[in-house]
Amino acid sequence: MRRWMLAGNWKMHNTLGESTALARAIAEGCADLAGGDVVVAPPFTALAAVAGAVRGSRVALAAQNVFYEEKGAYTGEVAPAMVKDAGCEYVIIGHSERRKYFHETDETVNAKLKKSLACGLKPIMCVGETEEEREKGATEFVVGLQVRKGLYGIEDLADVTIAYEPVWAIGTGKNATPEQAQAVHAFVRRLLGDGYAGAGAGEARILYGGSVTPDNISALIAMEDIDGALIGGASLKSESFLSIIKTVAGR
Ligand code: PEP
Repeated sequence: MRRWMLAGNWKMHNTLGESTALARAIAEGCADLAGGDVVVAPPFTALAAVAGAVRGSRVALAAQNVFYEEKGAYTGEVAPAMVKDAGCEYVIIGHSERRKYFHETDETVNAKLKKSLACGLKPIMCVGETEEEREKGATEFVVGLQVRKGLYGIEDLADVTIAYEPVWAIGTGKNATPEQAQAVHAFVRRLLGDGYAGAGAGEARILYGGSVTPDNISALIAMEDIDGALIGGASLKSESFLSIIKTVAGR
């Protein structure tokens, strides 16, 4: 039985004060819920402060990105060991906004995954097709390539989570139907099984991301291969994020 995971991606939002207040409200609101993993991903500037705010609670911390080198002359970049040191257990890698605005490729995603795993971080690797790719019927081709290239050379998937996030559904209010999401999740799970049988493939969690709200989470989480969600907009308010968490925990 795979544990559910709900991860809030705060993107480039929240000051230190706003971040710690939101983290505390989430930690208090889900303290009594059993099972599963609740994760928040604040901006880099708030990681250490949020780590303090959630210490001793059931909320874990994620970074939104890392670089693929350990240290050196890489102005503006942050190494996996640095976010680990700041209190992170997880790191989001290859979010479509990073692929789009910062030209991340499957190769850099793969390098970031390897370096993160090597220092004990648990990566959440994002994959997903654009609207044009879906309309052309290329969803499985695109997602399959992203999964295979992103995981190239990684033999143990026990600490890896995949987030299927159709680009057309992120921040648009246009979420995939539960059936559309389930079809891609099942495809990704088959792919993991093919390449990695016996190496954590059965346990690897696959999250859905793309305009998840308190209103649509029940139908999504009811799908066999959807193990949780990566949530942007609805994770920025404790009320909506907690409502999603309570729905999933209370199934
Ligand atoms: C995301 O940031 O990964 C995301 C899915 O955003 P939203 O929930 O706002 O669509």
